[in-house]
Amino acid sequence: MECQLVKSMMRNQSQNIEQSQSFLPSGSMVEDWEVIVIGAGPAGSLAAIQLARQGIRVLLVDKAKFPRTKVCGSCLSGKAIKVLKALKLDAALLAAVPLKTFRLATCQREVVLGTEGGYAISRRQLDQQLATIAQAAGVVFQDATTASLGNLREGMREVILTNKSERSPTVRAKLVLVCAGLGNADLSGSLPVNESLMSNPSIGLTCLLPPDGRFEPGQIEMSVHRKGYVGVTSVEDGQINVSAAIRKQTLGGSQRITQVIQQVIGEAGLTVPFIPESTRWLGTRELTRTVQIPGAKRALVLGDAAGYVEPFTGEGMAWAMEAAVKVQPFVNQALSRWDPIILDQWTKICRKQSRSRQRTCHWIKRLTARPILIRSAIEVLRSFPALARPFIHSIHGKSNTSLEKNK
Ligand SMILES: Cc1cc2nc3c(=O)[nH]c(=O)nc-3n(C[C@H](O)[C@H](O)[C@H](O)COP(=O)(O)OP(=O)(O)OC[C@H]3O[C@@H](n4cnc5c(N)ncnc54)[C@H](O)[C@@H]3O)c2cc1C
Repeated sequence: MECQLVKSMMRNQSQNIEQSQSFLPSGSMVEDWEVIVIGAGPAGSLAAIQLARQGIRVLLVDKAKFPRTKVCGSCLSGKAIKVLKALKLDAALLAAVPLKTFRLATCQREVVLGTEGGYAISRRQLDQQLATIAQAAGVVFQDATTASLGNLREGMREVILTNKSERSPTVRAKLVLVCAGLGNADLSGSLPVNESLMSNPSIGLTCLLPPDGRFEPGQIEMSVHRKGYVGVTSVEDGQINVSAAIRKQTLGGSQRITQVIQQVIGEAGLTVPFIPESTRWLGTRELTRTVQIPGAKRALVLGDAAGYVEPFTGEGMAWAMEAAVKVQPFVNQALSRWDPIILDQWTKICRKQSRSRQRTCHWIKRLTARPILIRSAIEVLRSFPALARPFIHSIHGKSNTSLEKNK
């Protein structure tokens, strides 16, 4: 496979990652690892932590300089919490805010549902904590370094690393885990990943606003509009996390992102946050894509990079974490000997998961494209809040669904 050199990225060393170290001793031509993990989001960090705990030599690389913010609603579902607890990673949640209510609104009608089991935590905080835990477990973490897949040589997969100033010598591993999220464009040229995009895609957007006394901690405020939907929640330091999935075509022309977001929230009937002119929005490429083959020889793709759906239900991080657990036996198998069946079986697992998620995604997309249907659902839930229980239960596990407020 063709080597692909990717563009330089950011600074070399994060001051906040005290134990970051040079992964390649000067003078050596190639450094061998058992596993190289590309991307330190929830999928990558959790995969790396579990492997390091087994004594496996792992290099974890991220193109961003940590700590970094990221497009996300910053709400961990009960399912994600379950995975973190099962892996004894609760320490990452110390600062997190427990979620108590989910406020859903459209066309000036709203319903507030009680919910338990989830937490709000900024991605800056969560991902930094997980990277720190990974290092404590023995993972070598290199941030501000972009990775791309290289050739197969001598039973190893080469990886080319680039940082701001220079291209590092090639590293290689028996297996590479590609956990590069939606922003995996750097890798798409080097993997035979055949992606397909759904029609009328949305793009993801996030900004963090200074603390605002009008937003109750522990509450998710979700506004639905024909242009898309916006979630607002307070995170651990009181900042307001605003995230949205907005239909790409409605963002065209001269309309500015802030105006569209404020319109979506205002027309739904919820509190419109003050968004200063200088606000920096982070954006994604088009959401909702399917990936036909999540990997190649000695490389497996997981998390968002293996297929992505609408973020309405806030389950993306739980799915990424679950994938990091499911991939473990495949890694162990690949470390003893690569067999094409590893990729076949991993593809089956990813396809099965992606099929059921895409179904949910189609359903949500249809519903959110017609706010009148959401409005009808809100009317029903105002009278029969218990009907929301299966939906909330599927996201958070344990639930306490109650009608708290009408408008
Ligand atoms: C608008 C929006 C709101 C959302 N809200 C929620 C929510 O509230 N709750 C929830 O659970 N999920 C939510 N999600 C989904 C969630 O953000 C993702 O599903 C989750 O982050 C996926 O984790 P991951 O580890 O697969 O990838 P990511 O978290 O995206 O991590 C990928 C990492 O790889 C790095 N990377 C990329 N390319 C390279 C490269 N070439 N070399 C080195 N590093 C690379 C990136 O810098 C990044 O750090 C939301 C998504 C969107 C778009």
